[in-house]
Amino acid sequence: MAELFKIMKITVGEEKLTARVLVNPGMPLRTAEDIEATARVYYLAPAIAKHVCLGDAGSEFQDCMGDTELAHLLEHLTVELMNETGLAGDISCGRTRGIAEDPRLFDIELSCPDDVLTIGALSSAVFMMQWAFVQPDAPAPDVEGTVEGLRRLVLSLRGEDATEVADGDDADIDDAAADDAAGGPEEDAAADVDGDDAVDGPIDVEGARVEEDTPADPVFGGAAAGYEG
Ligand SMILES: [Zn+2]
Repeated sequence: MAELFKIMKITVGEEKLTARVLVNPGMPLRTAEDIEATARVYYLAPAIAKHVCLGDAGSEFQDCMGDTELAHLLEHLTVELMNETGLAGDISCGRTRGIAEDPRLFDIELSCPDDVLTIGALSSAVFMMQWAFVQPDAPAPDVEGTVEGLRRLVLSLRGEDATEVADGDDADIDDAAADDAAGGPEEDAAADVDGDDAVDGPIDVEGARVEEDTPADPVFGGAAAGYEG
């Protein structure tokens, strides 16, 4: 099965994590190319519509959700999953920008109070969008179960009891073990160095608020897959 996204590289900084993401050739680049799939993502996590989104179309993500980059949708879904764990701190933020030399290549910056939380949310969001855009006939991902799996995973790695609610400020683990999360670049993807090659400018800088979540059939993906802490 063809993959929608390929995560080329993950860079962990002090407060943010940057994922360089390739939208694989043959896959849609913009939500407007497959509005049904975009709607599937919306129904998994309707709270993304109300995310603050400082793009050019308006102040909430719903203002541009119908025609924006898939990478931007991935960013908002990731932020929402982080949010719903309750472990992301007061605010979760993201920013997505295109990489000049390849229209299929994007840098997604995510706030990173905890490496495992951010990477886990990203990989779960990739799994959910894979379902929405490529394999919609498969059972729908279980957002609530995935969020709970992520929460338990992060708390167990912190040595905390997953039945307690943590406030996210006391991460014991820090910038370890993230550099091995990305594969090598393919052909002309040019995922070589950080920073200066992202000349298209930010699409947005934004935050999100926790709202309701949506129960669905139990399917787990990403880092939460199979985790039963
Ligand atoms: Zn946005």
